[in-house]
Amino acid sequence: MKKLIDILETENILDKEQFVYLLANFGLNELEYAAAKARKIATDIFGYDIYIRGLIEFTNYCKNDCYYCGIQKSNCKAQRYRLSKEQILECCGTGYKLGYRTFVLQGGEDPDYSDDKIVDLVSTIKNEFADCAITLSIGEKSRESYKKYFDAGADRYLLRHETANEEHYKRLHPKEQSLKNRKQCLINLKEIGYQVGCGFMVGSPYQSMECIAEDLIFIHSLQPHMVGIGPFIPHADTRYAKEPHGSFELTLFLISLIRIMQKKVLLPATTALATIDSWGREKGILVGANVLMPNLSPKPVRKKYSLYDGKACTNEEAAECKKCLEERLTFIGYHTVINRGDYI
Ligand code: SAH
Repeated sequence: MKKLIDILETENILDKEQFVYLLANFGLNELEYAAAKARKIATDIFGYDIYIRGLIEFTNYCKNDCYYCGIQKSNCKAQRYRLSKEQILECCGTGYKLGYRTFVLQGGEDPDYSDDKIVDLVSTIKNEFADCAITLSIGEKSRESYKKYFDAGADRYLLRHETANEEHYKRLHPKEQSLKNRKQCLINLKEIGYQVGCGFMVGSPYQSMECIAEDLIFIHSLQPHMVGIGPFIPHADTRYAKEPHGSFELTLFLISLIRIMQKKVLLPATTALATIDSWGREKGILVGANVLMPNLSPKPVRKKYSLYDGKACTNEEAAECKKCLEERLTFIGYHTVINRGDYI
């Protein structure tokens, strides 16, 4: 087997065995090497610009039972809420004034938010904020539904594949949900013309290095425009409450590997990363991430959108949050930009 650092220098995509070897054996040396390489790629493409997306968590009702997720249907302790169209538009208005030009509408799979309602929401936001991009992150829908949202003006869609390994997928989801369908959704979204994001949790229960190698190979085959990864963090009211959270170092290493593999990809430093390390977002950027997704949801509902315990930044208003983020970015020599931040 080649030296680890030589593996990082190969131009071709690694095979599964090489990825597993790298993931199982990397140390500080490789972490730093990959980070420097990834960061150089990111600054060559994006400079010191960080794209920001205003995240609006508009419903925590969900018809699914993903075993790791705090808002799964079976969690009767979850306090459910659903924002109205007016409330969502108010979030967009606040965000717009603060310089956000992308709004991410994320939620559980809430049957009450019918296709017609989503279409109406998307087209209204597009009308009022014509220079903004809309990202949807509302789970698995039919191809027809995706097409309707797209025609109404949605630009991007985030749907983490969660894991590319069949067995692992079954450990994380009930039998009603399938990896096959999740992958098909991603393909449909791409064909329709969305900028598409997949992704996975690092350190989710039963995840092996083989699983992660398969995730990386899947990402390479899908060629998404965005990749969202963050550590798994347990939620007290789920079956995986007692599981440890994913490794911070491994998450950073994976951010770097993904940047090296998919040079132009839009890669966020996620809230989950900020939750397990108080400088998580900044460190994520320093190892190759180029996107931040601060919360624009009304303060009273933020804690209720509880996918995992201890979620960072639930106590600030949108304006304070933006200011804090700007200061933190200045500290590491980066800055936010006021644009849609589309895939180049
Ligand atoms: N319903 C949408 C949005 C899901 S929530 C969908 O199905 O795509 C967004 C992401 O949060 C999920 O894709 C998952 O990867 C992540 N997530 C859920 N529970 C988590 C946990 N306990 N720890 C870390 N991330 C989690």
